[in-house]
Amino acid sequence: MKKKTLFSRISCAMLHAVLLTTCASVPRIAEDESAIHVVLIGLDAWGAYSVPGADIPVIRQMMAHGAYTLEDLSVMPSDSAPNWMSMFSGADPGLHGFTSWNSKEPGFQPAAVDSRAFFPGIFGLLRDQKPESTIAYFYEWSGMKYLVPKDVPNRMKLVPLLSYWKPGANKIARYIKKQKPGFAFIGFYGTDMTGHSKGHDTPAYYKKLSQIDGYIGIIEQAVKDAGIYDNTIFILTADHGGVGKGHGGESMQERQVPLILYGKGIKKGYEIVGEVHTYDTASTIARIFGLVQPDVWIGKPVEEAFE
Ligand SMILES: [Zn+2]
Repeated sequence: MKKKTLFSRISCAMLHAVLLTTCASVPRIAEDESAIHVVLIGLDAWGAYSVPGADIPVIRQMMAHGAYTLEDLSVMPSDSAPNWMSMFSGADPGLHGFTSWNSKEPGFQPAAVDSRAFFPGIFGLLRDQKPESTIAYFYEWSGMKYLVPKDVPNRMKLVPLLSYWKPGANKIARYIKKQKPGFAFIGFYGTDMTGHSKGHDTPAYYKKLSQIDGYIGIIEQAVKDAGIYDNTIFILTADHGGVGKGHGGESMQERQVPLILYGKGIKKGYEIVGEVHTYDTASTIARIFGLVQPDVWIGKPVEEAFE
């Protein structure tokens, strides 16, 4: 059995080398260090309201030396799956069909599908237009596995308790140091859990934010250790905010989330003044990688963030 596995891995790697086709089971060779890298970090239910009063030195440093807005507007309903999907797919629920907090598939025929029968998202777009890319997708909320086609990321991994203890962040750090991914998504869930159990805008919520900030620091350090820091853009954002012990409603505390861009070619200490929506994140990442975005997308790159 072992031999066969090894053989199929080798043939797959050879095929990949020759044809530049996707072969998700094969760990890719680390990318060219001079190429642009994107690390997208999402915090579930991270309301923009919380930023001024939070003890988040790592995030604050990225804001101070990057471009940011605290008025990035989530789509309605201000729930998880509709917004993560919009963030990844440059579109709103009326187009991609993920309409409820735990949608596992579109509730109706989406406005378009790609070759994987999936509404076109940034992960598939990168894979199709730059097949050699190393793509990683780490998530803590199990519902996130339905938001990306499984055959697209080279590494797609549920990291339990990522927001609660260091080993999760360390595991991702090891991967980054070794693989130097072109595009890595890391989704923290602890802010949502704490919002639902202890409440938004509570000491417990701010404590969780601080803890996650420390883990983001571990990931930032890994990017430095990997030797790709000078060619990396970090994007920090959220799916939605929250109020009381919930979210999903129309209040700005539930709808406004931070969007922070930091790194190569990004303005420093710049507050974005234009209107920004969750679905603009996908378009912005497409712009960074030089990808052509699908006609069905309504997102626009946040041009004013770039130098
Ligand atoms: Zn959420």
